Amino acid sequence: MKVIAGIFLSGFILAAALAALAQGGRPEDGFRETRQLMVARQLQRRDITDPRVLIAMGKVPRHRFIPETLVSQAYGDHPLPIGSGQTISQPYIVALMTQWAEVHPGDKVLEVGTGSGYQAAVLAEITDRVFSMELRPELARQAATRLQDLGYAGVRVKSGDGYQGWPEEAPFDAIVVTAAAPRVPQALETQLKEGGRLVIPVEDSYGNQTLARFRKVAGKLVKEASLPVRFVPLVRPPALKVAPGLGPIPGAPKP
Ligand code: SAH
Repeated sequence: MKVIAGIFLSGFILAAALAALAQGGRPEDGFRETRQLMVARQLQRRDITDPRVLIAMGKVPRHRFIPETLVSQAYGDHPLPIGSGQTISQPYIVALMTQWAEVHPGDKVLEVGTGSGYQAAVLAEITDRVFSMELRPELARQAATRLQDLGYAGVRVKSGDGYQGWPEEAPFDAIVVTAAAPRVPQALETQLKEGGRLVIPVEDSYGNQTLARFRKVAGKLVKEASLPVRFVPLVRPPALKVAPGLGPIPGAPKP
């Protein structure tokens, strides 16, 4: 009798452990089924096949990255506003960009355009070396706090201009840019490792955007895939103004 009870008990513990694993060790948040439906209908039914990406998308609580008033739409097949005129991409696009970036555990990844922090969290489910930069300091601050609260404390967020990349942490195995630029910023090309992947929406002079995936081969970017998309622009920040009193002193000898 004791043996049977023991078998039942260990079976129960195993089932509970597996359920916790599927949750990423996180407490049940009431959206697990909605999230699994999103993965099945919006991702698997299309062309998302990388198991790491599917598992990551099934774990990250997307509803925690959007304004409270929109929570009921969190897992819908569309982008959503996140404040400051910015948007969080449709789940499929986040999954596709992650799949195109071919992220492996241990890879060093740069995201440009932190926004809500959602894409960074999806990347952080796959590798523990995620660096994310955001031009707007208030968005960077909010995203850093949110990521910390949700258990993604390992993601490094900094406020800065994505056109410059993050030279102190380069080179990267993959770079994911979540805002559209007229061309690949030179700094990002330089900061990509040989064999590295760069995923970026590029906008032509007619305003048409295509999401492109490049790979660095023999020091040059080779385009491997593209898809028509719609992203907010990667903004060029105004040239740094020199604060009064901090500029060069007129007539002072040059160092
Ligand atoms: N990846 C985000 C959504 C990004 S929206 C998410 O998962 O929620 C694009 C973001 O790029 C915006 O937050 C915008 O402020 C930021 N951005 C625009 N220009 C930038 C630049 N030059 N450098 C860094 N971030 C920039």
